[in-house]
Amino acid sequence: MQINIYKDKLLGAHLFGASVLYSTKPIPREDVPQSWYCYDLRGTARHPDEPHALVDKAEENHFGSILSYLPLKNRRSQFRLVKNMFQMTGTSPTLAEFCAEEKIRCPETPIRHLLRPASPEDAGLLYEFFKSQGTVVINEAADFAGTNGCYLYQGRDVQERKNKHLKDQILVVAPSEGLVSADVWLRCRKKLMANTTFQNGRKAKNTWLAGKVKCGRCGYALMSVGNPSGVQYLRCSKRADNKSCPGCGTLRTREFERFIYGEMVKKLAQFQTLTGKREKVNPKLTALNVELARVEDEIEKLLNTLTEASAVLISYANTKIEELDAQRQTLSKEIAALSAETMSPEQIERLSVYLNRWEEIDFDDRRQVADGLISQIRATGECVAIEWKI
Ligand SMILES: [Zn+2]
Repeated sequence: MQINIYKDKLLGAHLFGASVLYSTKPIPREDVPQSWYCYDLRGTARHPDEPHALVDKAEENHFGSILSYLPLKNRRSQFRLVKNMFQMTGTSPTLAEFCAEEKIRCPETPIRHLLRPASPEDAGLLYEFFKSQGTVVINEAADFAGTNGCYLYQGRDVQERKNKHLKDQILVVAPSEGLVSADVWLRCRKKLMANTTFQNGRKAKNTWLAGKVKCGRCGYALMSVGNPSGVQYLRCSKRADNKSCPGCGTLRTREFERFIYGEMVKKLAQFQTLTGKREKVNPKLTALNVELARVEDEIEKLLNTLTEASAVLISYANTKIEELDAQRQTLSKEIAALSAETMSPEQIERLSVYLNRWEEIDFDDRRQVADGLISQIRATGECVAIEWKI
């Protein structure tokens, strides 16, 4: 365990005549308050338990760490011999008590050390994330209320390490408050997992619209996420990732599904009166579909590089994605126009049978119907645009 210098008690000491704080545990350098100094005391190989020299960082024979508001060593020299200039005072003040005693301003606790319970929405994301990774989640979604932390245990018979693979590892809500917000945790975890999350291959199960519906603001996929009370909402995956999109507004998954279902029924009704041509293969349509698949593939690849990319690359990728998306839209429209002509009465009949038996057909069939009719949906809480295939 590392020491938390903003919370834990340290030990009072004098070093080279200055009042300092001493800790036997290493002090994380990123915690050191601005304009303060942190050093290590180093023993020798022969006497590791005696402070021999003051160094910036002891790689071996670490005797303790020193926190000081005064510089105690020339920055350019590697060490300063302690001789007998180190004495413990026998006190164990906190940083705040030490500052009060020394009559100096106490450094503020940096944000990262505050307890930051995740918001209930974020907690839902966490639950969804682990589920999507195949983790065994012991608690119900409702237990992810956004206050408590989680424990991740190595699952039995799981070979892979838990910081790489979450499948079959075990997640339990901890009895204590969480330290890191779900949002920050997820961002780090996704980076750690080399960006393999939310990729195409995973089987959608929350909504038959998965993969079809995009954020009306940024164009990233919307994913269906349950809030702790079990209601599913569509949420922008870019917003979930890094908050750089304002989000799609309030879209309840079930309501949205019903709306799209209604639109599909209406759309198909227009076509049932038409008689399609019995043309089996339309070479132009095939060519367009191949081109569309290529463009979509390219967009997907670019999106997948973004998490780890530098700012320059991101701005390049964004421009490129906009170009590709414009191409994609043009292609979709051409395909829609052609498909309407080529869709056979049998196909239309089959789709309408499915739509009539909507409540009975299973999830995969619903996905196929949606896929047969719709190339893409862009949605926000205020506005829905459906790109039809027919
Ligand atoms: Zn968005």
